[in-house]
This record gives sequence, C-alpha cells and structure tokens, in this order.
Amino acid sequence: MKRVSIFGATGSVGLSTLDLVRRDPEAYGVVALTANSDVGSLAALARETGAQVAVIGQERLYGALKAALAGSGIEAAAGEEALVEAAARGADWTMASIVGCAGLKPTMAALKAGGTVALANKESLVSAGGLMMDAARQSGATLLPVDSEHNAIFQCLAGSSLDDVARIILTASGGPFRTKSRAEMAAMTPAQAVAHPNWSMGAKISVDSATMMNKGLELIEAAYLFPVGLDRIEILVHPQSVIHSMVEYRDRSTLAQLGSPDMRIPIAHALAWPQRIATPCQPLDLARIGRLDFEAPDMERFPALRLARAAAGEGGATPAILNAANEIAVAAFLDGRIGFLDIAMIVEDVLQRYGAPRPGTIDDVLAADAEARAQAGQVMERLTA
Ligand code: NDP
Ligand code: MG
Repeated sequence: MKRVSIFGATGSVGLSTLDLVRRDPEAYGVVALTANSDVGSLAALARETGAQVAVIGQERLYGALKAALAGSGIEAAAGEEALVEAAARGADWTMASIVGCAGLKPTMAALKAGGTVALANKESLVSAGGLMMDAARQSGATLLPVDSEHNAIFQCLAGSSLDDVARIILTASGGPFRTKSRAEMAAMTPAQAVAHPNWSMGAKISVDSATMMNKGLELIEAAYLFPVGLDRIEILVHPQSVIHSMVEYRDRSTLAQLGSPDMRIPIAHALAWPQRIATPCQPLDLARIGRLDFEAPDMERFPALRLARAAAGEGGATPAILNAANEIAVAAFLDGRIGFLDIAMIVEDVLQRYGAPRPGTIDDVLAADAEARAQAGQVMERLTA
C-alpha cells in the first residue's frame, strides 16, 4: 500500500488526485489532507478516505475543523506550522497542489522528508527552484512534475541525457484571449478570464493562462526541472491542447506526448510512476479532432511572456519577485479592483523598482516575496487612487 498525502486537497488538482486514489482503496492509504479555509470539504474528504490527519491553513478555523471531525479519530490541526509538520511526517507520495508561494514551506518539508513529491504547485518552484532542487538531491526525494507540459517533457525525455536535447518545446493553448486585441483585453472581466477553452482549473491559474503568465511561470519551472539552458526552451502556441509538450533531440528527432486535456492523466502518471495505472479519462480521438494548429506566441499582446523570460535569465530572487507581484495583481483582478491589462503592468513596475540579493535560504525567498507583495500593493494604490 502506498501512503499518500495531498496538500491542497480541496482544489482542482487535489480533487482530481483524490478521484484516482479513491478508485483503488487497496492500493492507497491517506496520511494527510490539507485545505486553506474549506473546512466542510476537508473534513468530508478526510472521513471518506480515513486520513490520519487533516490540516486547515487558517489557524482561526481549528475549532471548526475539530468539531467537524469529532468522533472520527482523525487528528485535526491548523496553521502554517501545522502544514509544515504534516509534510515533515513524510509519506511515500505527496501531492503538492497548494496554489501560490503559500505552498513553498510544506513542499520543502516534503522534499526534505524524502519519498516522492508530485509537484503541481509551480509557484514554489518558480520562487525557490534552486533551493528545492538542492533539497531533493540531498534527501534523495524524487520530484515528479505534474504540470501537464512538464509531465509531458518528463515522459518524452524517458531517462535520456539532457546533453542530447536540442530543444524543449513548451506548448501553450494561448488561453481564452488568444485572438483578442489589447483593446479588447482591456475590457475583459474576471468571469471571461477564468473561462478557459480547454482546461477546468482553479481561478488563479485560469487568470494566469489568460495573461499567459502561466506559460511564463512554466518556462521558469522547466528551466529548473530540465536544465538545458534557457535559450533551448521555446514556447509554441497550440490551441487544441492535445500535444502537451515536445522534446527535440540533437539528431532532430522530436518526441511529443499527447492526451485529452484532463489533469488526471499527468497525475496518474506521477502516482503510478515508474508503472502505469488505468484512468477513467477519455481516449484521444484524433479523427474527431481532425487537425492540430500551431502559431508563434505574441510577445506584444502578452507581455507576461517577455517579463518571465527576462526574470528567468536574471535568476536569483527575480523569479520570486515576478511571482509574488503576479499573485497580488491576479487576486486584485479577481476582486474587481484592477483591469486585466494592469496585471502585467504591475508585475513589470515591481520588477523595475525592486531587486533582492540571490536567496541563500527559504527565509530569503520569503522575504523577497513579502517585499514584492508590499511593492505591488503600493503600485496598485497609485493606480486606483
Ligand atoms: P485551486 O485554487 O483549485 O486549489 C488550491 C488549493 O490550495 C485548495 O485546496 C486551497 O484550499 C489550498 N490553498 C489555497 N491557498 C492556500 C494557503 N494560503 N495555504 C494553504 N492552502 C491553500 O488551485 P488548482 O488546483 O487549480 O492549482 C493548484 C496548483 O497546481 C497551482 O500552483 C497551479 O498553478 C497548479 N496547476 C494546476 C492545474 C489545474 O489544472 N488546476 C494544472 C497545472 C498546474 P481551500 O479550498 O480551502 O481554499
Ligand atoms: Mg501547465
């Protein structure tokens, strides 16, 4: 039996993971499930799976969680430290699917504990990629990418040497505003931005897909996971989201991984790796799809792509600053406080006014993250004044 923990169990990726886990109760035992504020869903999932411990991120909700778990024998815990403690308990397999840099400390604790860490939480890798890769090397933890593109690249690499890789081609759907002009984008609402044409996902990553910051974050993610050099990682817009990414080798042979746009496919790959398991996902019907289209990304209409590539090139704390400013701007956009085009503008403004030394520890990363959030808040105040 594989002992699994799911951080961010109540979210889109967390629920997809549980959908696979609950299909085979003999194969999986649940150690920890976590959420931020959704006590009701967390308690129900913990009872259903017989989890050892349920952790709610918001400390003030401890009483509510304890009450919801009364009589179940499941341990209740709350707060940031409790999340880290639950990750440090170790599991054979941990899904890191908290959204945002809030996932960094628990993910680091899981990596230090060893075992396998399936990583969806790209913001933690963007912010602290070097430190996370070091932690995995030191503890012997296996870090498996769940983000569909990175999972595809991992599958296309199939253990080949990175020295043989000529190019990694990161595919992008282009998001809901792929064909929109800047003037049209300026008027887009949160509801329009989260309506992704191919994928059903949480609100934050859906907005990131609309600005294409998601692809920017994924470029940085790929550079840490597959260090072939930034100039060897290209972005290609592919509106159907059937090819999830490609690897071109130096002999010019190119491998692609294809599948229906369903996160349960890459999650299942990481859950069973190095084996395979059956999933309830739709088989790929290429005759019905009929055609696959490709186009170059438009850096003018999607400035987030340019900002992320520049941040990746600078390295150090710059990706963490980019990510933190983006998290603040996306939350403000979802709240109706700023316009769609303001998101990348705020990120650019913060990157221009704030730089931090290369982080040597997670606390350095979190300090740069906090300062970038404060700076983004100030930029926003001026914007909305
Ligand atoms: P959701 O918003 O659907 O879920 C986020 C989860 O994290 C929820 O369980 C939420 O709890 C919890 N959470 C939110 N904030 C905090 C916090 N401050 N502290 C602790 N827990 C928190 O996100 P997604 O599932 O869409 O995305 C999760 C991660 O996976 C992101 O990093 C995203 O970029 C990445 N990813 C997602 C994909 C997708 O298809 N959705 C695809 C590829 C990558 P609560 O429910 O209580 O709020
Ligand atoms: Mg992705």
